[in-house]
Amino acid sequence: MNSDFVKVGGLLKNAKRVLFITGAGVSAESQIPTFRGATAAFADGMTEDGVPFEEVLSAETFIKNPKLVWKYLFILELSIRGKVPNAAHLAMAALQTSQRSVYVATQNIDELHQRAGSQYVFELHGNLRRIICMECNYWVHLETFESLTKVPCCPKCEAILRPDIVLYGENLPLNVLGAFKNEQKKGFDVVFSVGTTSLFSYVIEPVMTAAQSGIPVVEINPEPTPISDVVDFRFAELAGETLCSLVRTAAN
Ligand code: NAD
Ligand code: ZN
Repeated sequence: MNSDFVKVGGLLKNAKRVLFITGAGVSAESQIPTFRGATAAFADGMTEDGVPFEEVLSAETFIKNPKLVWKYLFILELSIRGKVPNAAHLAMAALQTSQRSVYVATQNIDELHQRAGSQYVFELHGNLRRIICMECNYWVHLETFESLTKVPCCPKCEAILRPDIVLYGENLPLNVLGAFKNEQKKGFDVVFSVGTTSLFSYVIEPVMTAAQSGIPVVEINPEPTPISDVVDFRFAELAGETLCSLVRTAAN
C-alpha cells in the first residue's frame, strides 16, 4: 500500500477531532454533476441560455428574473432527485465514534452527508430542498419540486418562494458560519479538503490556518487546486475509493 495511505490512516486512527471540507466532487460518485471540472454540468461554465451559471444563479438575477433562476433550480433539483450517499459520504460518517468527532463543512446543497449519517454538518451554501418565503417565516422541506409551479408563491402571503441556498452574490448564513468558526477555534487533529475546486476564501482559510498551525492537511481531488501546494498529503484520486481505503487503514 502507498505509504501516504498508511500515514494518513494512522493520523485518522489517533484523531479525536476531524474536519472534512467538501464540495461537489464528493457527490459526483452519486451521479450528481459538479459545476466545474471533468464531470461539470455546464460546459465552459455556460448555461443553455447563453449566460454563465454564476450569473444565472445569482441574487441579482433572482430579483430581475426569478423565472429564469427557477428554471435552473428545477434542473438542479432533478440532478439530486433520488440520489443516495456514495462511498465517500459513508466513509466520513463511519469515522464517527464515541472517541472521535467528525465535522463536515460542505458547499453541497444535496443533504447527502446527513443522509449518510454525519452528525455535525455545516451547510455553508444551504439546502436546496428547504424552501423559504422571501417575505414571511413560511418554510417547507420538499423531497422533490414536482408540486411547485414555475415561480412558486407562498401559501401564507403570496410572496415569491426560493430555496434556502446561497446564491452567487449573497453572504453565507451567519449562524452556520458562527457554529463552524466555534469548532475551528477548538482545533482539529487533521483537516481534509475533498472534491472542491477551493475557490472561496471560507474553504481556503481553514486549510491555510491548519497548515500554519502544523495540523496535517490532506487533499483528495483528481485535479490540482489552489491549495494543492500547501497540503501535506495529496491524493489525486476519486473520493469514494480513497476515503474507504483510509477508513479501513484507520480501523486496523
Ligand atoms: P465544483 O463543481 O466547482 O468542482 C468540483 C471539484 O470536484 C473539482 O475540483 C473536481 O476536480 C472534483 N471532483 C470531481 N469528481 C470527483 C471525485 N469523484 N472525487 C473527488 N473530487 C472530484 O465544486 P465546488 O468547488 O464544490 O463549488 C461549486 C458550487 O456548486 C458549490 O457552491 C455548490 O453549492 C454547488 N454545487 C453543489 C452540488 C451538490 O450539492 N451536489 C453539485 C454541483 C454544484
Ligand atoms: Zn410568505
